[in-house]
Parts: sequence; structure tokens; C-alpha cells
Amino acid sequence: DRRPLVSGNWKMHLTHLEAIQVVQKLSYALDRGPQGEVEVSVHPAFTALRSVQTVLDADEIPVALGAQDVHWEDKGAWTGEVSPTMLAKLNVRYVIVGHSERRQHLGETDEWVNRKLRATLRAGMTPICCVGETAAQRDAGETRDHVVGQLHAALEGVDAAAVAGVVVAYEPVWAIGTGRTATPEDAQAVCAALRAAVGERWGADAAAGVRIQYGGSVNEANAADLLGQADVDGALVGGASLDPVAFAAVVAAA
Ligand code: 13P
Repeated sequence: DRRPLVSGNWKMHLTHLEAIQVVQKLSYALDRGPQGEVEVSVHPAFTALRSVQTVLDADEIPVALGAQDVHWEDKGAWTGEVSPTMLAKLNVRYVIVGHSERRQHLGETDEWVNRKLRATLRAGMTPICCVGETAAQRDAGETRDHVVGQLHAALEGVDAAAVAGVVVAYEPVWAIGTGRTATPEDAQAVCAALRAAVGERWGADAAAGVRIQYGGSVNEANAADLLGQADVDGALVGGASLDPVAFAAVVAAA
């Protein structure tokens, strides 16, 4: 009985002033009727977290606060980094770890992703752990092995009870920001393979509990088909999440 989670990854967009406007518009665009079926999170840049948190709390907007990254240490001489404790104090609930943009362009390794994921759990927050294959890996038939390898590395040393509460985001690298999505059937097949891999290593309860999002060019037109798949438990949305009306339509489709 997994509650779908639709998350908006704002990436390096929106100043804190713009972010306030977007989250206010989002609160109008979302159906404010009985909530509970779909969970929603937004992931502003670090500079906008405090402002967005203030608006969410003041207006009791049923949207969870998320971050896009975190460091693995709680404090220390790490110039430019932000710690799990700092995020938790801002009521951050979800933390994206291992996004492909960080892996590809900023040197993020599987080992860092694992440390960040465990640090997020230690601080009482929920990681959204991103995995995904490149176009070359897909063409070579390596999709399953690659994403399962990333998953195993990210969850190394995490116990089954904690794994059940984690969120995994399957984001094919070639689908991010390209307007090309995986077909619903492909998304389902990979998400099912990820769930099976969780089951093999961490047991049936962990497999049944872990939520698996699809990400990569999700928009209001394709969301219903992708999110209708049995093993797709939500979406990680980039570009479309910057438009409150489009993002609310994705939420409505979940
Ligand atoms: P787009 O929705 O813009 O393709 O981005 C997906 C993504 O990377 C979300 O983390």
C-alpha cells in the first residue's frame, strides 16, 4: 500500500523571491480537497529553502519540503557544503541523493551517494535515491545491471526496515530534459527490476514498502500513463515542476 510521491526538483532555478511565488501559486493550483492519496514535495535550491518552508508552514500547504543534495557529515571543515542537521532543522523531509547531473558533471561517486543516503536517514529524513542509465548503456543492453548496481551501492549498509522507507527515483539519463520519456512499459520493467533487486537483498517487506518514482521529461500529458504502472509509485519532475499549473496537473494524474 504505497502512497505515490510526486516531487518537483527545481534544480538551479528560482531565486528565493521567485520560489515564494511559485509555491504560493502551487498551493492554489493543487486540489485543496481531502489530501492523503498523493504526497507532494518541492526541492528548491538551498538559498530558497528557508523562504519556502516559511510559506508552507504559514499557509499550512500540504507539500513537503525537500532538498537537492546534502553532505554526509553533520558539521566540520567542508567549505560550501550543507549538513543533514541543517536541513532537518528546516523541516526538510526528502533529500535527493545521487542525481545524474551531480554524478555526470560534479564527480559524485557511488560511495558518496551511499554516505549521503545514510546521513539523510540518520538525521530522520527520507532519501530520494536517483539511478539511471545513459543512452549508450541502454543500447548495449546494460540498463538493468547498471541501475541495480547503483541501487546496491547506494543502499550498502542500510537495514531492511530503513530500506522499506526509502524512495528510489529511476531516471534514465537520456530522458532528462530531452522531452523523450521511457515508454510506460520500459519504465514499469525497470522499476519492477529495481523492486525485485530490493526483495532479493532486503526481503519482501522492504520490496513492498520502497517507493520507486520515474523521472525524465514527465509532464501533464504523459504522467497518467507512466504513473499508472504497477511498480511506478510517483514521479520526480524537473522542468514541468517550475510551472505550478503543469506540476499540479502531474499530481492530479498520480
Ligand atoms: P526533467 O523533468 O526536466 O526531464 O528533469 C527530470 C529530472 O532530472 C528530475 O530530477
